Amino acid sequence: MTTLPEEAVEAFRSRLDGRLVTPDDLDYDTVRAVWNGGIDHRPALIAQCASTDDVVGALAFARDEHLEISVRGGGHSTSGNSVCPGGLVIDLSPMNAVEVDPDTRTARCGGGAVLAELDAATQAYGLAVPAGTVSHTGVGGLTLGGGFGWLTRMHGLTADNLLSADVVLADGRCVRASQDAYPDLFWALTGGGGNFGVVTAFTFRLHPVGPEVPLAIFFWDMGDGEEALRLVRDTVPGLPEATGVLVGIGLTAPPQPFVPPEHRGKLGHALLVAGFGSAEEHAEAIAPLANGVPRLFETRTTVPYTGLQSILDDWAPRGILAYETALTLRDLNDDVIGLLGEYLPRKSSPMTFCPTFHLGGAFTSVPEDATAFGGVREPTYVLDIWAVSPDPEWLVADTAWARALWTELLPHAATTGGYVNFMAESEEDRVRASYGPEKYARLAGVKATYDPRNVFHRNANILPAPT
Ligand code: FAD
Repeated sequence: MTTLPEEAVEAFRSRLDGRLVTPDDLDYDTVRAVWNGGIDHRPALIAQCASTDDVVGALAFARDEHLEISVRGGGHSTSGNSVCPGGLVIDLSPMNAVEVDPDTRTARCGGGAVLAELDAATQAYGLAVPAGTVSHTGVGGLTLGGGFGWLTRMHGLTADNLLSADVVLADGRCVRASQDAYPDLFWALTGGGGNFGVVTAFTFRLHPVGPEVPLAIFFWDMGDGEEALRLVRDTVPGLPEATGVLVGIGLTAPPQPFVPPEHRGKLGHALLVAGFGSAEEHAEAIAPLANGVPRLFETRTTVPYTGLQSILDDWAPRGILAYETALTLRDLNDDVIGLLGEYLPRKSSPMTFCPTFHLGGAFTSVPEDATAFGGVREPTYVLDIWAVSPDPEWLVADTAWARALWTELLPHAATTGGYVNFMAESEEDRVRASYGPEKYARLAGVKATYDPRNVFHRNANILPAPT
């Protein structure tokens, strides 16, 4: 364990508006824990920053004491990069205020807020920003890597809706980046991850959404799995833009009220289709799915938008053991469907599955180079191979399983990289491949300008271009 001069630590503590947590504190283990229960890093200090000044002070302290730093938003990254062993965690969780201006349809959101906080504040005015699908995910990491969810086909990525970001840079300067000020930095923040500074506040463009959303859930038995995935492939890309789609490939039917008791625990594929137009439009849109391959069960309901945003929370409880790796696919071709049918029955944990997002519509109308997002701006599926388990032995087995499936699917992928927010491991070549050579070079140039010493390196790391 790093030994730090007591006087310096106490002086740092006295300057903080927030709280400094050390290994001597009774709640140290609770505070250092992140969503992935497999991460067991023991930082020397955790600065729970309550203000921009706290973040500036924490960076200065780390510089003076030669401490590695990590930046923690919602603590949701599977990699656990937001906690650093022996170093200083800049924990932004106290900076979670969200202010909404309904007249300009904008929201200013603290860098440590989670999606539930952002959604609750914006829905109070019938507004929303596209975000992720699990409510305790952090706005910080999600936005900086791109961010997609139910509203992405209609309104683009979270990062596409970013208007400005307040950033504390590696040298302690505080700037507001937007398309008009520090445009190079602003561009890098729209997908380049946590490489460029600590974002203390995000300002987003909002859209009218909800408050109620029609939702259909289809569930097919694994025995009909190949036919079901072909139906998904043939139908989903043609659904209206005002439709959010998530395919639960290889899902185990949960013990929830909408699942008939005799089907709980069965392995199959789920398709969730949320409608953001009228109920009639939604019914019309899903008709081809409802008339296709026989389902094991099906539910049609209406949920509050905030309910939709938390509908998957039970699949992702805090403290669960997790590994993930993802691919971007232009199509669910027959070979891909065949591989999924071969692999899914071999997974160990009932919680492991492949949440698969269809990106299209508004997502594809943003030019490729307009943001730093590392995907392809074409209609695509992002297939996340998500190994999740309460049992360490199952996790070991499913991690090997996930890597093997990823390797077999790779020849069908649009790139050899993947979505940086779905990487439990972010090796340099995969990060480069995620962005492609031109975007990576541009990001490396911005990195050299704002963080030439790579202070912010616990992330899908972009190396500063040589100067
Ligand atoms: P943290 O672990 O706190 O941070 C991850 C990294 O982000 C840090 O290492 C740091 O580099 C950077 N960072 C975070 N906040 C800041 C900040 N304010 N300033 C600077 N750097 C910062 N992604 C989607 O796009 N859509 C989804 O639907 C989705 N669902 C998910 C569901 C689950 C259960 C999980 C575990 C993840 C999901 N993700 C989804 C992935 C998610 O976007 C990433 O895990 C993201 O990193 C989470 O952000 P965080 O702030 O909670 O993470």
